[in-house]
Amino acid sequence: MKPLVYRRTSLQALALGALATPWSLVHAETSLAQAMRRALALRDEASRAGDQAYGAVVWRAGEIVGSAPSRVVTHNDPTAHAEMEAIRDAAKRLRSRDLSGCVLVSSARPCRMCETAAMWAGISRMVYGENMTDAGAPR
Ligand SMILES: [Zn+2]
Repeated sequence: MKPLVYRRTSLQALALGALATPWSLVHAETSLAQAMRRALALRDEASRAGDQAYGAVVWRAGEIVGSAPSRVVTHNDPTAHAEMEAIRDAAKRLRSRDLSGCVLVSSARPCRMCETAAMWAGISRMVYGENMTDAGAPR
């Protein structure tokens, strides 16, 4: 069992609110900091693949429910930002377009397109960069 580690109290409060039961807190595997490390690894993966150097993860209640590198160049899709792809991945995996309670964890500050997509998906909060900057709820 790994302890949950948060750098900001507001994020901790959100994460705790997103958890269904105290039992799931005990068994939560992936902290937000670990989710960020994954987003940064996806950024590096995108870079190695010749794409734009961005990566993103959708995290909820101690687990990564969606993730993606940028695919703008490799898929010739100007909207395939890492955050858009991660949101699509999470919605597909969760079989829901409602991602409320989820945190969008990305290697850089989401652009307006991605923030709007996060808002439509009901994402609760955005965190970006190696310093885990809290960008608040998408608007
Ligand atoms: Zn974007």
